[in-house]
Parts: sequence; structure tokens; C-alpha cells
Amino acid sequence: MGQHKPTIAIVGAGMGGLAAAGTLRLAGMNVQVYEQAPQFERIGAGIQMMPNSMKVLRRIGIEDRLRRVSFQPYSHLNREWDTGTVIRELPMPESLFGAPYLCMHRADLHEALASVVPEGIVHLNKKLVGLDQAGCQVTLAFADGTRAQADAVVGADGVHSVVRDIIIGPDTPLHKGRIAYRAVFSSALLKATDVVGRSRTKWWGLDRHIVIYYTTADRSQVYFVTSVPEPAEWLTRESWSAKGDVQELRKAYEGFHPEVRTVLDACPDCHKWAILEREPLPRWSDGRVVLLGDACHPMTPYMAQGAATAIEDAAILARCLEEVKGEDIEGAFRRYEAHRKPRTSRIQAISSANTWMKGGDGDTSWLYGYDAWNVPLAPAESYAETL
Ligand SMILES: Cc1cc2nc3c(=O)[nH]c(=O)nc-3n(C[C@H](O)[C@H](O)[C@H](O)COP(=O)(O)OP(=O)(O)OC[C@H]3O[C@@H](n4cnc5c(N)ncnc54)[C@H](O)[C@@H]3O)c2cc1C
Repeated sequence: MGQHKPTIAIVGAGMGGLAAAGTLRLAGMNVQVYEQAPQFERIGAGIQMMPNSMKVLRRIGIEDRLRRVSFQPYSHLNREWDTGTVIRELPMPESLFGAPYLCMHRADLHEALASVVPEGIVHLNKKLVGLDQAGCQVTLAFADGTRAQADAVVGADGVHSVVRDIIIGPDTPLHKGRIAYRAVFSSALLKATDVVGRSRTKWWGLDRHIVIYYTTADRSQVYFVTSVPEPAEWLTRESWSAKGDVQELRKAYEGFHPEVRTVLDACPDCHKWAILEREPLPRWSDGRVVLLGDACHPMTPYMAQGAATAIEDAAILARCLEEVKGEDIEGAFRRYEAHRKPRTSRIQAISSANTWMKGGDGDTSWLYGYDAWNVPLAPAESYAETL
């Protein structure tokens, strides 16, 4: 670093915000994280981390911890909803893309990310309500009346980003009439039948699907997440806590393969989530404020890449900022956006269409083989006037 070690304020301590805290600290920056929640809660959900995000997590220093707790599936397995016929299987040995494919409890990933951020850096109960850029400083205003200052701000405040509303303007989510049911429960409830198996399995129905996998190394927890059409207009603010009706869920999967029905029959209760999408944003930054993760490229969960791409963002942002040594922060933000946007837009589009690995043998290396630490970045000058 040069003489000036910039202070970067990160808004939001979700997957992307904490990953950015890790990568920016590695790049030698002062980091402060402001999170609206009064405390972190263990949300009942699984999450898949593919080799592309595992490479970032490796350098942040949490790979070993995640390996100890996570389930490492043999493959991405895609099957027909009723017959169980395999329509595509992609074995995922570590040698394929140079990092493991892990499935885990969402809270285990969040705790691991939080574990590398020293105490005193994450400030809870700090709901951002305003931003003011003046000269080389940005002032953050919080709902409790307090303020903070930083050289730059990273808006990692999720799909309902206040930072995005401030720098781009409010947007309206698109609701395509689909919801996700999800549940994590003890595999003891499956009564010793290993219907979940060694892989992460996506069961493809005509207008719905279900993804099932273990979330723990000892296979003691099973997780599923669905996508189903919802006849009634059911919309929440993408709440993680809305309860679903397990009877309705079972009914929605009535004709599915017995292995799916065994899992749903064993499930004691479930949560429900409205799947909302958004149009790609015209830009991600404004001066010394930039967006990251769901705040700038929210996507359907169908490719399991929402958190993964937020984690990739964190690595590229750190590389761009490290190079400017606290000087041209605005240029570093433009360079980050220019590199990241084509990739995340492509993933958003495939995710929205829900065609990923639905048969065929299309290339997957561009997605899982991406290495955010080593992928070439075009020279900073080439981005100067492009955005
Ligand atoms: C059902 C489902 C399954 C999924 N499965 C996967 C998967 O397997 N793999 C994968 O990679 N992705 C998956 N995703 C996507 C993934 O969960 C998201 O993309 C990811 O959480 C985005 O991270 P983020 O940090 O951008 O936002 P978030 O994780 O939403 O974090 C945003 C944070 O900002 C805070 N915040 C919000 N507003 C403010 C404010 N005004 N002031 C301060 N703080 C604020 C919030 O409290 C929150 O802590 C899934 C999503 C869903 C819905």
C-alpha cells in the first residue's frame, strides 16, 4: 500500500459483506462493517459452495473449517421427476476445477466468514438510511441517529439494498408467480433410508423442481429447496422466516418419484419464499460508493450462484482496490464493475431461464473453473471512459 490506507465501510454483514471484509483486509485496507440486524440468527437453509467460490474462501482462510462441517457431494445429479432417469450427471472431484464442491448449513458458512473478521469491526444495529459524498469522504447515516465516515462505501445490503436505492434509484422486483419451499431437518427422520444419496440431486418436473442434499459431513441433516408455481398472488419481502404449509408442499409434489416423496413425508415443517427477480442495473457505482452481491445482481437460486458470485465480487473488488493503493478509488470501482458485470449478467440470465444442466453436456468450466484471484483483469486505463 502507499502512504494512505483507505477506510472502506461495508453496509451489510451477509455472505457478500463478510466475504468483502475478509478480502479487503487481506488487501491491507481498514474495514468497518455496518449491519442492520441486532444479532445474527441461524436461518434454516442449506447452501452450496462450488469450486469458483471455494477458491476465494480458501484464501480468506476458511476452507479447512468448511471441509470439516460440510457434505462433499460426489456429483451434480439431475433426474427426471417421475421415473428418476438421469438426465445429466457431473461428477465433481476436487481435481476437476481445483477446489472442492461443498454443501453446508447456511449458518455454518456465515459463522466461518465472521470468524476471520476481528472483533470490533462488525457494528450491529446499524441500519443505513443515508449516504452523503463530499470530496474524498462519504458520510453514512444510520437509523439510530449516528454517523460514520469512510473513504469509500461498499453496498452489500442484499436484494432490498438501500445503497442501491440511493445511488441508482428504487426498483421494482419482478414476481413471476413462483415460490420456494425449503427445510433443513434431521436425517434420522428418514428412518435409515439413504434416499438422499451421495450426490446433490435436482429433480426436474414439468413446471417445478426440487433440489435435495445433505448439509453436514456426517449426513445428519438433510435439506431441500423447491421452485413451484403459486396460484395465489403471494408476495413477501423475500422473508427468510415466512412459514409454509407442509401439506400443500407434499400435494405440489404428489406425482414425484418415491425418493422425493420419502423426503417430503419425513419433513416436519417448512419455510416459504417468494422468488423475485430484477432487471440488470444500468451501473453499479457512483463515485466512491459501489454495490456488491444481491444488491447489484440478484438472481433466482436455480444455479446456486447468488452467494458464490457475491464472494467472487469480493475478491475482484479487493484486487482492483489494492492496485490503486488508496488513490483512484472511483476508477477501481469502475474496473471492478466492468470485469464483473458480463459474468454476473450471464449467470443471472441462465439462472432466470432455469436451464443450467437440464440435460445436454454443455461446458461448465467457465462457471466453476473461474478463479477470481488469478483471472486476468484488463488494464485500468481501458475502463476509464467505458461506463
Ligand atoms: C432459497 C435460496 C437458496 C439459495 N441457495 C444458494 C446456494 O446454494 N448457493 C449460493 O451461492 N447462493 C444461494 N442463494 C443465494 C444467496 O442466498 C444470496 O445470493 C446471498 O445471500 C447474497 O448475499 P449478499 O451478501 O449480497 O446479501 P445478503 O446475504 O442478503 O446480506 C445482506 C445483509 O445486509 C443487511 N442489510 C440490509 N439492509 C441494510 C441496511 N439498510 N443497513 C445495514 N444492513 C443492511 C441484511 O440484514 C443482511 O445481513 C440462495 C437463495 C435462496 C433464496
